Amino acid sequence: MNSDKDLFFTKPQIEEITKTYPTPFHLYSEKLIRENAKKLYKAFSIVPGFKNYFAVKACPNVYLMQILREEGMGFDCSSLPEMILAQKIGAKGEEIMVSSNNTPAIEFQKAFELGAIINLDDITHIPFLEESLGGKVPELICFRYNPGPLRATAEGNVIGSPQDAKYGLTRAQLFEACKIMKQKGVKRFGLHTMIASNDLRKESFVTTAEMLLDLVVEISKEVGVKFDFINLGGGIGIPYKPEQVEVDLDFVTRGVKKAYDEKILANKIAPLKIVMENGRMVTGPFDYLITRAIHEKHIYKEYIGVDACMANLMRPALYGAYHHITVLGKENAPHDHKYDVVGSLCENNDKFAIDRMLPEIKMGDLIAIHNAGAHGFAMGFNYNGKLRSAELLLRENGKVEMIRRAETTQDYFATYNFPGAKIKF
Ligand SMILES: *Cc1c(COP(=O)(O)O)cnc(C)c1O
Repeated sequence: MNSDKDLFFTKPQIEEITKTYPTPFHLYSEKLIRENAKKLYKAFSIVPGFKNYFAVKACPNVYLMQILREEGMGFDCSSLPEMILAQKIGAKGEEIMVSSNNTPAIEFQKAFELGAIINLDDITHIPFLEESLGGKVPELICFRYNPGPLRATAEGNVIGSPQDAKYGLTRAQLFEACKIMKQKGVKRFGLHTMIASNDLRKESFVTTAEMLLDLVVEISKEVGVKFDFINLGGGIGIPYKPEQVEVDLDFVTRGVKKAYDEKILANKIAPLKIVMENGRMVTGPFDYLITRAIHEKHIYKEYIGVDACMANLMRPALYGAYHHITVLGKENAPHDHKYDVVGSLCENNDKFAIDRMLPEIKMGDLIAIHNAGAHGFAMGFNYNGKLRSAELLLRENGKVEMIRRAETTQDYFATYNFPGAKIKF
């Protein structure tokens, strides 16, 4: 959410919360997450078999995943711990999709044990998978397609152009891989791609669906295999900047349905499910990183130092990403001060905003950094001995629940448990 008016809390509410939970912290809204999930499912209700496999990496918190499961989502996992998270909240079998790359054997083994959908990233993973599973192959297999030069992507896309991306099989390899897997006894197939991330162009999701559906028709005919689903990947963008608008989901689903009718129904290869694995648009807008101004500095530029740092939200430092900032209680004050809003890490890119016009900030002011709910807390790290913050959830009943406590120095030292060490922490 990209405007000062979008907050789901008031300044007095935050003041109250900080009496129990000191800043910085992430604050999610259960109500908004549920409403958005319902909106996504409603728009896609015209698309056969739709399911969103929430990309766990965007926001790996079991409490939020539980909410998403109640709203009908599955989980897209790309590591062993992510699979365990999905398992912990009771997700089973094909509710879990495992889309990893450069995958270690133990992850294939875990995915197989869970009965999850395995999405292979490369043709050479076929013998690797077989060996990892002691000669077995799953009944259902999915392949990740990389269209390479056949498809260009948007500027500012985090993934980059498909041709330079490390993911997926080429078109020719896909035909070959399906042939091999058919011979090995695979009964059902899936076709996946993930071309764009944070894409706000509604047309591009329709183009992706058309591309995959065309391929399904061609491979079904040429190789004689049965496709169970296509997975359009994630990547639905969110408007981070004030001038951006959200993706028109109804436009997307009308386009996808039309392509399905023209390609799948017309060629009599129905039924085929169309699924996605969005992460960002599911949790991103419904969390704010709440922090407090603790220092001001007047040198060659004006700096406001806050008590959060890039360990709590790395996107601005990592990609120069824009995150809207609201100074609580000053929403309507003139934005006539130009600041760099910075964290305390000994890295000069630890800045939440550069040359941002904001109201005058006084020490102690509470600051809300918007759209922190995807690839936000999740990218946290401990460089410079910085600790990850708490995650709080504003429940639908208005109560605030801590859904992950803040790290302590004990957590930071927890892996120093060397036998015989003389130093005690
Ligand atoms: C990151 C990722 C997603 C989710 O992307 P969003 O931009 O968060 O929707 C989905 N699938 C794969 C394979 C990913 O790597």
